[in-house]
Amino acid sequence: MGRLDGKVALITGVSSGIGRAATTLFIEAGAIVFGVDRNADAGQSLIAELQDKGRSLHFLAADLSTESACIEVIRHTYERAGRIDILYNNAGILILSPFTQTNAETLEHIFAVNFKSVFYLCQQVIPHMQQQGSGVIINTASELAIVAQPLYAAYCATKGAVLSLTRALALEYAKDNIRINALCPGPVATPLLQQEFDLAADPNQAEQEGISAMPIGRLGKPEEIAQVALFLASDAPALMQGASIVVDGGKTIL
Ligand code: NAD
Repeated sequence: MGRLDGKVALITGVSSGIGRAATTLFIEAGAIVFGVDRNADAGQSLIAELQDKGRSLHFLAADLSTESACIEVIRHTYERAGRIDILYNNAGILILSPFTQTNAETLEHIFAVNFKSVFYLCQQVIPHMQQQGSGVIINTASELAIVAQPLYAAYCATKGAVLSLTRALALEYAKDNIRINALCPGPVATPLLQQEFDLAADPNQAEQEGISAMPIGRLGKPEEIAQVALFLASDAPALMQGASIVVDGGKTIL
């Protein structure tokens, strides 16, 4: 018996990093996973990887940065699955930029992907979950919704907005048996974090500094975030509502 046996999960950003690890883990736990990502090639490679293990993924290539794409993704999933038990909003991007040089286009783009997609997907899925009488939503924020870092102003703001949205929705829909929580990862070894290191004059040194900032002496692994997402998606944390779950190897308590 898996912890998610028979549950339908919609996960965004499945082609890489944390979303990729969560997809594998959720399927192994018995979920029927619908995965969305703008990167279709990497999505196909995940499908092939899962097929080698006798598993299957319903993959949809979509760029979630518009409301219409979010509407279409939810419509498509209901048409095929008939229900969504778990929405795991994981897709996100990182843009590093000095605050005074962050232009309107950059700001609009990072908000569209990191925040507005979460807003619109929740908006589309909640009426269905109300009708079902249950549902679980996991929204991905970041430790950088809680602490700060120079050059990350726009990113921090999008993740802070995700935390606030999560708390507001958790209150508004608690009585509908919809459990809504936020996951706040610390530094995790994924292409997104590597992109940050690669922007430094000395990427190796940047990585070592990143590791030094971790009390556990290493970066997180995507599977370690996925395990917490699995716990949040399962029936176990029945009392958790509107929580911000920090999973960061102790970085934010330093
Ligand atoms: P990643 O870059 O490895 O994976 C992100 C995935 O999201 C990619 O497959 C990408 O194609 C997809 N994606 C991006 N924009 C999209 C869009 N417009 N439409 C559809 N798909 C899109 O990143 P990751 O490190 O696995 O990050 C996953 C989430 O965790 C993000 O929300 C990120 O902000 C958050 N996070 C990551 C870290 C970290 O250190 N890696 C720390 C805190 C929070």
